[in-house]
Amino acid sequence: MINVTNLSKSYGPIQALQGVNFHIAPGEIVGLLGPNGAGKTTTIKILTGYLQPDDGAVLIDGLDVLTHTREVQARIGYLPESAPLYPELSVQSYLRMIADLRQVPEEEMALRLSEAVRATGLVDQLTRPIGHLSKGYRQRVGLAQAILHQPKLLILDEPSLGLDPTQIVEMRNLIRRLAQRSTVLFSTHILSEVEALCDRVIILINGRVRADARLSELAATPHAILVLEDAPPGVDSVLRGLDGVQGVERVESGDGYPAYRVLAAGGRDLCPAIYHLAREQDWPLRELRRDVRTLESVFNELATAA
Ligand code: ATP
Repeated sequence: MINVTNLSKSYGPIQALQGVNFHIAPGEIVGLLGPNGAGKTTTIKILTGYLQPDDGAVLIDGLDVLTHTREVQARIGYLPESAPLYPELSVQSYLRMIADLRQVPEEEMALRLSEAVRATGLVDQLTRPIGHLSKGYRQRVGLAQAILHQPKLLILDEPSLGLDPTQIVEMRNLIRRLAQRSTVLFSTHILSEVEALCDRVIILINGRVRADARLSELAATPHAILVLEDAPPGVDSVLRGLDGVQGVERVESGDGYPAYRVLAAGGRDLCPAIYHLAREQDWPLRELRRDVRTLESVFNELATAA
């Protein structure tokens, strides 16, 4: 659905994007994660045809955004970072105006409007001026305008920016519902948002893609966590003697049992070998699993290395 190749963009001396590549398949829900100034908004503006790159290409649904801008925009529902809403217009009048601008056929108008309003939970707000709505409801109006023309692809720039915790949860549920019909790419700097919503994350730092993976792949490590009912003497040194083990650390098991992180020298999963060793040594095995990292630790590692 989205093919981005070697995208670069500078604003004067500031190089906002440097050779960005990624692909998003139909039906995916992908988070574009990065700290402030990473290049998320710049990427999104290029994808949606509102900014020209200096170099590189973007294909949306097989169409080049530079040469087929209108056709591409007709396929995209776009929620910009600050949606240009008209405060004096009622929700209903505003959505009607946008539907006219998008050339929604008159015979489909009522159905499209009511679907968008229902999907975004705005049924009770239709006659209120947009300027009287809370930030959360204004964001919903932004989303409603983005889905009016039933786009194949939703691109949302920081959809939860400025929302309170309850509104953030509501926004997530809304995005999850919308993702049942459209491919979704959204930008955020909130790690928990990515964890709650995404199949995949693309981490952008200083205008470069630093990671592009499924969350489970990012979290996986080759290291193992071993928890025993009690610790027979010399467990550490026996583990250290195992082929492929680089080191052994004592860790908190959370429930008071002796626990060890067994560090792998290479990428090979150590669990099968540790399991055989534990049986051989007759250790009272309580738990054995691959160690996982949090998205926060992956993100911090990448941000520090950049
Ligand atoms: P944030 O999370 O703060 O919105 P972002 O990841 O969306 O950041 P961008 O807004 O794409 O990042 O900005 C990338 C870089 O380009 C930043 O250094 C920013 O200051 C710079 N930049 C963005 N827009 C402009 C502009 N119109 N003129 C000059 N520099 C710009």
